[in-house]
Amino acid sequence: MALIALEEARGFVIGACATLAPTSLAIDAALGCVLAAPVDSDVAVPPFANTAMDGYAVRAIDTLTVPVELPVVATLAAGASPVGMFVGARQAIRIMTGAPMPDGADAIVAVENTERSAPDGDVVRVLQPARSGDSVRPAGEDIAVGQRVFDIGTELRAGHLGVLASIGLNTLTVYRRLRVGVLSTGDELVEGGTPLGPGQIYDSNRHTLLALVTRAGCEAVDLGLARDDERVIETAIRQGLSTCDALVTSGGVSMGDFDWVKVVLNRLGGDAMRWMQIAIKPAKPLAFGVVMGKPVFGLPGNPVSSMVSFELFARPALRKMAGHGPGAWNRPTVRGVADEALRRSPDAKVHFVRVRAAFGADGRVHVRSSGGQASNLLRSMALADALAVLPDGPGVGPGDDVEVMLLD
Ligand code: AMP
Ligand code: MG
Repeated sequence: MALIALEEARGFVIGACATLAPTSLAIDAALGCVLAAPVDSDVAVPPFANTAMDGYAVRAIDTLTVPVELPVVATLAAGASPVGMFVGARQAIRIMTGAPMPDGADAIVAVENTERSAPDGDVVRVLQPARSGDSVRPAGEDIAVGQRVFDIGTELRAGHLGVLASIGLNTLTVYRRLRVGVLSTGDELVEGGTPLGPGQIYDSNRHTLLALVTRAGCEAVDLGLARDDERVIETAIRQGLSTCDALVTSGGVSMGDFDWVKVVLNRLGGDAMRWMQIAIKPAKPLAFGVVMGKPVFGLPGNPVSSMVSFELFARPALRKMAGHGPGAWNRPTVRGVADEALRRSPDAKVHFVRVRAAFGADGRVHVRSSGGQASNLLRSMALADALAVLPDGPGVGPGDDVEVMLLD
C-alpha cells in the first residue's frame, strides 16, 4: 500500500468530521465547551458608577487644602440605593466598596486617608487631597452596552464563565461536550490488578486514550477490553456507536491474522472505511471512517503509536467536532533548538521524536531525547512533553533548529 503524506491523511480525517449542532447549556455545565454564537452584552458592567474603596464620597474641589473637616450626611453600603442621596458642597457620605456613587460626589477619599473622632461621629477629617474620579469605577468600564464580549469559537474557561455571568446570562449557546468511546482489543491484554498469564500483558492503551480524550475536553466512555473475536468486537463497536459521538479503538488494524477490528469496521462502514499507511513514524497505520454517522478512529496497538496517532488525527478532529476553529485544532509548534543530535535515517517518513523541552537562557525552546524511540517504549513518551518533528533525511545535529510540537 502506498504511503500517504501526513497532511493529506489529516485533511481527509478532519474533513470527514462534522461539527456538532449547537445547543443550550446551563452556565455551570459549559466549562471547556466552545461558544456556538458570538455574545454581545445587553448590559453595562459595572451597571453604575461605584466606589473601589471603603471611604468617603466627596467633591474633589473641597479637598484641595488639607486637612479639611467635612460633615458626614449619610452612609451608603454596597447594595443600597443612592436614590435621594446627595453630596453637597463641603459634605461627605460614608461609602463602602461596590456602593453606587451618590449624586454630587466625584471622588472617593479612602478611609486610610481620613480621621474620624468616633465611627458614628458626624464629621470626617480628610488628610489627603482627592482628584476628580479617584477610586471611582465608571459604569461600563469592563463591558459597554452592545459590546461584543466573546466571539464564536471561544473555549470557555473559568474567567469566561464569570464574564458571561456578569452580564446576567445563565444559559449559553455552545457545542456540547462530545462523548467519545474508547475500546482496547487484543487477546494478550488483561486488566491491571490480576496476575499475568503466559503471553499476556496489561492493557495500557485504554487508560492513556481515556485520559487523552478527557484532556481533549470530551467525555470519555470506557468501552472495555475486547478479545480478538469478531463477534465480541462487533458487539462492542455497535454499542459504542449507539451511545457515543465518536469511537477510538486501539489494536487490530495492522496486517496480523487476528486483526478483527479491520474486518468488523469494513462490514459496518463499507466504503466509508479507509485503511491508511501514513508516511510517519511512529503511528504508520490508521483506520478511519464515518460509520453509522459517527467517526471511528482505529488507532494502532503499539502504545506510543496509539498516543501519537491520537495527537495527530483524533484530537484535531474531535476539536473540530466540538466547535473549535481551525487555528485551535492542532497542538502548537515552535521552532526550537536541538541540544543534542537527533539522528534518523531517510525512509520517506516524517519522524516524531519524543523529547523533553525547556526554555533556555536565550528564550528559545531547547529539546533533548526523552529515551528510546521504539513504538512500544511508552515510558519515554510519558517523560516527553513535546515531539520533535524530523522531516525525511538524516535528522538534526547539536545546536540545529528543529520544529517542536508541544504536548499537554
Ligand atoms: P496490534 O495493532 O493489535 O497488532 O498490536 C500491536 C502491538 O501493540 C502488540 O505488541 C500489542 O500487544 C500491543 N498492544 C495492542 N493493544 C494494546 C493495549 N491496549 N495496551 C498495550 N499494548 C497493546
Ligand atoms: Mg492485536
